[in-house]
Amino acid sequence: MPHRARSAPVRSGRKWRLRYFLLGFLFLLLGYYSIDYYWREKRWRWIIVHHTAGDRGNMEYYRELHQKERGWPDIAYHFLINNGSYNTMPGQIEVSDTWQNRSHHYSTKKTSLNYFGIAVALVGNFSRYPIPGLQKEALVELLARLALDHGVAVENIIGHREVWTTECPGSRVDMQEIRNLVRERLGQDRSL
Ligand SMILES: [Zn+2]
Repeated sequence: MPHRARSAPVRSGRKWRLRYFLLGFLFLLLGYYSIDYYWREKRWRWIIVHHTAGDRGNMEYYRELHQKERGWPDIAYHFLINNGSYNTMPGQIEVSDTWQNRSHHYSTKKTSLNYFGIAVALVGNFSRYPIPGLQKEALVELLARLALDHGVAVENIIGHREVWTTECPGSRVDMQEIRNLVRERLGQDRSL
């Protein structure tokens, strides 16, 4: 009689320990993946628009330039919208490894914007000429897509010069107009 009374709880105790262990492990795994997902996809609060200020180049060109001249590990931007130079198509969007890894970038002097902002750059100098049609269309499409996917408010889509003393993304870019175009695009969002 005392034999059975003693042995039964030991067996079930072991079973419960295993269950708690597995449950704990599952929670840890779930926690890890939720935090990882949140950090990668939902930490973004701003989208910052830049121009490269140079007339020619593509992702490879600017990656090399930023690595050699600035000493950064990769290109300073997450996305680049090409203008047709260097064997690209006007309006063609290139995605950098900085974005693939969801790394912070180096496109502004503000740490919070670099860690919690998505950096989009247009190839060209828009203080000297306006954004060509195909590049502008691609920009609006990309901004709408990113705002929707990552929960960024349209008023948080900002031009570099709105947060720093610079002409970037060019004195001929009207950021209010860009934000309105994105709002319009999001309004007809069926195909996004
Ligand atoms: Zn800039």
